[in-house]
Formats: sequence, structure tokens, C-alpha cells
Amino acid sequence: MVLADLGNQISSALANMSNSTIINEETIDTLLKEVGNALSRADVSLKLIIQMRKNIKEQLKLDAMAAGLNKRRIIKKVVFDELIKLLDPGVAPWKPTKGKSNIIMFVGLQGAGKTTSVTKLASFYKRKGWATAMVCADTFRAGAFDQLKHNATKAKIPFYGSDTDRDPVAVAKKGVDIFKKDGAEIIIVDTSGRHKQEEELFKEMKEIETVVKPDNVIFVMDSSIGQAAFDQATAFKNSVSVGSVIITKMDGNSKGGGAISAVAATKSPIIFIGTGEHIPDLDLFDASSFVSKLLG
Ligand code: GDP
Repeated sequence: MVLADLGNQISSALANMSNSTIINEETIDTLLKEVGNALSRADVSLKLIIQMRKNIKEQLKLDAMAAGLNKRRIIKKVVFDELIKLLDPGVAPWKPTKGKSNIIMFVGLQGAGKTTSVTKLASFYKRKGWATAMVCADTFRAGAFDQLKHNATKAKIPFYGSDTDRDPVAVAKKGVDIFKKDGAEIIIVDTSGRHKQEEELFKEMKEIETVVKPDNVIFVMDSSIGQAAFDQATAFKNSVSVGSVIITKMDGNSKGGGAISAVAATKSPIIFIGTGEHIPDLDLFDASSFVSKLLG
């Protein structure tokens, strides 16, 4: 079962409830069990699921199935609201400060959409009037330097990287130092992702974090990653101080159920979603429309 099915599983649990003629305690328990199972398969922690089920039951009791109101609609609304709560880690999204160099470090597995999202975010800040620059500290993947350079040229954003220096920590530090001296207000550092969650990758991330001292670390995750979402996000969170999440490829078939796991694992808010391959394809995250899509 792929995690992308989370939305479908919850939708069908809600539909099953809608099909049953009577709605009573048992129907609600069955629904909550199905929703809980779907979340559990999505690697959302058991603690969160139990809390969610408890919240929903309490909420339904509170509303006491108010006379005359459509029970099914109330139940759907309560489930909807609880899913939104799961997407809220309870911390405000990080914001850059004027008058200083704000350093943002991107982390995530290879292919997640890091390099693409670095340029998208840099363009976002540039459009808002911030002096922005990008640094390519991915010295592992052949072509990473050219890809970011190409994007930087297209977006007209200053860029630092090296196609000869193979030390990502040194390249990251050098790039950040240059742009700090230049007075850049937003400096975004792209890092390597390699193929697997290798120890070496996390060691490298820690070293880069130590030298560039990021104000915000953004974890980039492919929305179609499936059940691996929770472990992957946890592995990055355990290595570096992840503070924000970007979910990419939301224009694809995936409904992005893994986003809930990413929030739970990193205790960080989703700030943007990637909706295409091009520079403007970056949307501010909106929990309501995300959950609507998840359930839709
Ligand atoms: P990285 O290895 O994490 O740096 O990943 P890349 O930025 O190179 O992206 C991997 C692939 O995913 C590329 O072909 C990108 O064009 C594509 N990609 C990245 N973000 C999105 C997105 O939001 N939507 C779609 N459709 N493709 C994306």
C-alpha cells in the first residue's frame, strides 16, 4: 500500500459511513478505526492517532449530534478539523529578519526537489524585494552545480558554487562568507541528497550546519514518497535542526498524505508546496486546501 492512498482511505471511510443507514456510536467507532488505521499506515505516530480519535469523539459528544443537523456533515467537519490540527505543529513558521544575512539551508534526499525548490524560494524572496543569493554545496551529484547555475542565471540571482572543489563544507562556507560580505539578506544553501539515508550524508549535513550556522533548515520531501516519509523526516531532524518543511510535486497524482508524517516527525510547519517544475510553481501552504485535496 502506498502512502499516497491516505486521502483515499479516509475518503472511503467517510463514504462507508455515509452509506450506512443509521449513525450511532458503533458507526462512529468504525469510522474512527478506519481513519486511525489509514493514518497509522501513513506512519503517523500512534500517540497522535489516539489523541485525534479522542478529540473527535469528544467533539462529537459536545455537538451532541444537535437536533436537526446533518450528522454526517458534522462528523466530516470534525474529521477535517482534526486533520488540520495534525498539520499544525504549534510553532509559527520562521520569517527572515531585515538588516542581516538570513541563512537558509536545504536538506532532503536526492530527487526530492531540493535544487528546484532552492531557486523557487530564492525567486520568491527576490520578488518580495530581499537581496537574495544561492550557494551550491552539492559537490556529490554530477550536474548539481550546472543545474543550480542554470537556474540562477534564469532567475537572475547571484550564485556561488565550484565544479572543481569537492569539499561541500568548504564550498558552503566560502559561498556564505562571500554573500554575507556582499550584504545579501537571504542566502540559500543547497546541499547534497545522494541516494540513500547514508550515515555520511548526515555527517556532511551536520558539518555544513556547523559552519554556515543557518537561521532556518528546510526539509524538502517528495509528496509521493509513501511510507518512508516518517523515518526519512526523522532521520534529517535527528541530524540537523529542521525548522520548516517543503512538500514537492503536489501537481502529480499524490495527495500528499506523507506531509502529516513529516510534520509529526520534524515538529515543523509546512511552509510551501511545489506545484510544478518551473520557478513560479511554489505555493504558500494552506492547511484547509491541503486537507480538502487529501479527502477529495
Ligand atoms: P534534488 O535532487 O532534491 O535537488 O531534486 P531536483 O530539484 O533536481 O528535482 C528532481 C526532479 O523533480 C526534477 O526533474 C525537477 O524538475 C522535479 N521537480 C521538483 N519539484 C517539482 C514539483 O513541484 N513538481 C514537479 N512536477 N516536478 C518537480
